Amino acid sequence: MAVQTVATPTVDLGPAAALSCRECGHRVPLGPVFACEECFGPLEIAYDFSAYDTDKLRARIESGPANIWRYAPLLPVPADVADKPNLNPGWTPLVKADRLARELGVTGGLFVKDDSGNPTHSFKDRVVAQALEAARAFGFTTLSCSSTGNLAGAVGAAAARAGLRSCVFIPHDLEQGKVVMAAVYGGELVGIEGNYDDVNRFCSELIGDPAGEGWGFVNVNLRPYYAEGSKTLAYEICEQLGWKLPDQLVVPIASGSQLTKIDKGLKELIALGLVEDKPYKIFGAQAEGCSPVSAAFKAGHDVVRPQKPDTIAKSLAIGNPADGPYVLDIARRTGGAVEDVTDPQIVDAIKLLARTEGIFAETAGGVTVGVTRKLIESGALDPSLTTVVLNTGDGLKTLDAVAGTGLTATIRPNLDSFREAGLA
Ligand SMILES: *Cc1c(COP(=O)(O)O)cnc(C)c1O
Ligand SMILES: [Zn+2]
Repeated sequence: MAVQTVATPTVDLGPAAALSCRECGHRVPLGPVFACEECFGPLEIAYDFSAYDTDKLRARIESGPANIWRYAPLLPVPADVADKPNLNPGWTPLVKADRLARELGVTGGLFVKDDSGNPTHSFKDRVVAQALEAARAFGFTTLSCSSTGNLAGAVGAAAARAGLRSCVFIPHDLEQGKVVMAAVYGGELVGIEGNYDDVNRFCSELIGDPAGEGWGFVNVNLRPYYAEGSKTLAYEICEQLGWKLPDQLVVPIASGSQLTKIDKGLKELIALGLVEDKPYKIFGAQAEGCSPVSAAFKAGHDVVRPQKPDTIAKSLAIGNPADGPYVLDIARRTGGAVEDVTDPQIVDAIKLLARTEGIFAETAGGVTVGVTRKLIESGALDPSLTTVVLNTGDGLKTLDAVAGTGLTATIRPNLDSFREAGLA
């Protein structure tokens, strides 16, 4: 490997100091790269937080905007990020779910972190907002991604707001709600004949081709920046609990990036002294029809064997999850687990959450709630501890999943008809 002689242009991404390899620790300057030149391991952001005083940092966060930029001092973004045009996602409700807790038998406090209210109605706005700043810093003019659906909409909307071109790639057979949501922002939307893993492979090819020059793929060549957005879920949960760690978290797994970075965020809060240093358990949730990480966890394997997805939880349908091994590591290290539920169990869980808490989740939310129930039944999750379940998307985007739900009755507009229908 040649010694780097050309000075790298310095970019201002706040406290982000370098990219560091998760496998071998090799460091490179901040840039649009995602794989280690030494060992091909994934690169992630390394920070310099050394100047922070705990009390001042807490006060600065608490007086910040009611969106993810209150945590700008902990993210790879410039200090003036909140002044630039972006979608300002985050600071979503942490709902105390007492009625759901009663149904599930949780006595230690159950919370739903409800990310359905983000600007494009999924947690993806958090990660895209980081990638957008990186794209600006590196001078990209087109924002792109490979998507299981929600990311496409988040990229389209963020690019529209920022005045960038967007061109996103999705499997051709996604839910109509997600296709429309991705197309409406005016960018280019391309359906690929294949599943997400085929889409992802195609995007990697495009990055190496002149046709992809000037393109920032939020989850490929901007992945180290993108991924950091998931830390904001950890920050918000702890701040909303009064700067306390929950005992247990149930997190959905697609590529596994979100779960991995939630763990990173929690560890940072502990290291910075913003929360007390105590154990927490992270549980991963998959659909049975795409459960490569859950299968590896149960088999005691360190490697994840790819699967061909077949499930209604399309937002989680990644058969070859990039962060799978790291998820296994975190679940085992923290004393958590990875579990999966069937499509009918997902639908039941969507309805259970809606009926008990008034939250209409997309299929991914059905996966986490369904898995929570299953983990309680198996004894893996302790119902006497504080538990946070993530809902990462909006049920309006996956209406087909609950298509059988509809009118209780159709009646003539008179009382007799009302009584005849048994509604009195
Ligand atoms: C993308 C996505 C996730 C998590 O994805 P990871 O690749 O594991 O970070 C979770 N829920 C929904 C609804 C998503 O769209
Ligand atoms: Zn390396």
